[in-house]
Amino acid sequence: MSKKGTLFVISGPSGVGKGTICQEILKEKDALSLSLSVSATTRKPRSIDQEGVTYYFKTLEEFESMIADGAFLEYARYNENYYGTPLKPVQEKLESGHNVVLEIEVQGALQVKKNFPEGVCIFIAPPDIETLRTRLRGRETETEQEIAKRIAVAEWEMQQQEKYDYIVINDVLEDAVQSVKDIIQARSVVL
Ligand code: 5GP
Repeated sequence: MSKKGTLFVISGPSGVGKGTICQEILKEKDALSLSLSVSATTRKPRSIDQEGVTYYFKTLEEFESMIADGAFLEYARYNENYYGTPLKPVQEKLESGHNVVLEIEVQGALQVKKNFPEGVCIFIAPPDIETLRTRLRGRETETEQEIAKRIAVAEWEMQQQEKYDYIVINDVLEDAVQSVKDIIQARSVVL
């Protein structure tokens, strides 16, 4: 009988380096049998965004009709926009024996924990909030006002980390990447 893949959730505050960690682990996607889920969002595309690659960009009406159709594994409202994981592609990849990675914020990860308990949830934590603020400023994609909002959310998000299966502190990037790879190897049934 063929084995199903494992769902891995990589989550944590905005600016913590989830995206960079995901890019690094995806360099070994064949060895780790990994596939990254592409989320849907109502946020406006940034210059680096590509439709269908970084996100599927939706209008509010489109997103709400997907919610009504039960099309999401999880979704959340984050800083006035919706973000959600389309259910069907995740199910298909898991059924075909691939591991799937979701890179999502904390409310969504807590929904996965509740509704999909076999998923493995990894919280990526900053060494401290000041480091997070400095990283958000450094990437120059948000205004000071947006950064302040993201930091306020991060303070609540940091309080949720004990609900996760694993906590990885992203202080030295290579160490954090290695810890996530080790977790994937340890918890994967298809390697
Ligand atoms: P950004 O606007 O910077 O691309 O993303 C904002 C936050 O939304 C990030 O923390 C990102 O991980 C999270 N996010 C991206 N896709 C999803 C998703 O499908 N579901 C949830 N819950 N959060 C997501």
